[in-house]
Amino acid sequence: MKIQSRATPRVLSGMRPTGALHLGHYHGALKNWVRLQSTHDCFFFVADWHALSTQHERRDDLEKNVYDMVVDWLAAGIDPEQATLFIQSRMPEHAELFTLLAMSTPTAWLERTPSYKAQTEADREPATFGFLGYPLLQAADILIYKAGFVPVGEDQAAHVEVTREVARRFNRIYGAGQPILPEPQELLTETSRLPGLDGRKMSKSYGNGIAMRDTPEATAEKIRTMPTDPQRVRRSDAGDPARCPVWPLHQLYTDEATRLQLDEGCRTAGIGCLDCKQPLIEAIQREQAPWRERADEYLNNPKQVHWIVEVGTERARAVARKTLREVRSAMGLNY
Ligand code: SF4
Repeated sequence: MKIQSRATPRVLSGMRPTGALHLGHYHGALKNWVRLQSTHDCFFFVADWHALSTQHERRDDLEKNVYDMVVDWLAAGIDPEQATLFIQSRMPEHAELFTLLAMSTPTAWLERTPSYKAQTEADREPATFGFLGYPLLQAADILIYKAGFVPVGEDQAAHVEVTREVARRFNRIYGAGQPILPEPQELLTETSRLPGLDGRKMSKSYGNGIAMRDTPEATAEKIRTMPTDPQRVRRSDAGDPARCPVWPLHQLYTDEATRLQLDEGCRTAGIGCLDCKQPLIEAIQREQAPWRERADEYLNNPKQVHWIVEVGTERARAVARKTLREVRSAMGLNY
């Protein structure tokens, strides 16, 4: 495994294990991870404890979801020689730092988290302690590796703020002038929010996704049956791409010259919707082909996947333990 030099800025990012990933995961995060791994010291982790903070009873498919997701990471081009891959629940060190940080973190900081407020205001099931503590666990995940950067989309910049506040307070109380836990920065990255088959955001919970490893047939069928401009009822009706849920996918996958032709064909009823969808189907199938090929190698050799995670977890543990020693010492717990 390539060990990055100490000057290489460290990036930390995690993903909840929701099973096989879809194109929205790839364009919204994974593609960026693949880019970052060659320029940063990347730590990517499976956030399985975080998954339990909202779905604590769902245990039957957890292990499968964890490894399906790791296979998708590898299939997308995450290179375990460059990046450190590990599973959160294999790292009790995160839980220890979470506990220690909890001692100095005001509850109000966690109660004002938008997702917690929404949960308590809506007349839903009462939030659990795990759900309340989720942003603090996230802070522990980041601070234990002294990550300099956390990749976020434009609308998530506030997420890192709690972590910074937690670090600042800890350093002020225990640091004696030394920043023991460096405050991370957001790494604002350009990612694409992919619409799903129904025009809403692509999401597993909406069931509107195209999986990274869908077969060519499944992909073609999903696109062919996608709704189009609702005002284009018959083939002879002129349409408007701005009203069509297929169009944002074209904007991501289709070159400009082809898009111009399709736009014209749609507005003049010169083409049918299936004609319009065909280049999109082919572009997505082209993107998926190498993912499926790489994934097959790992699926045929599950021990290799376990080994990759094992090596990554031990590497992460070495870093986490070093930070914990410093934290314990600063808190007077080094006895
Ligand atoms: S021709 Fe294309 S853009 Fe126009 S309505 Fe049909 S699928 Fe949508």
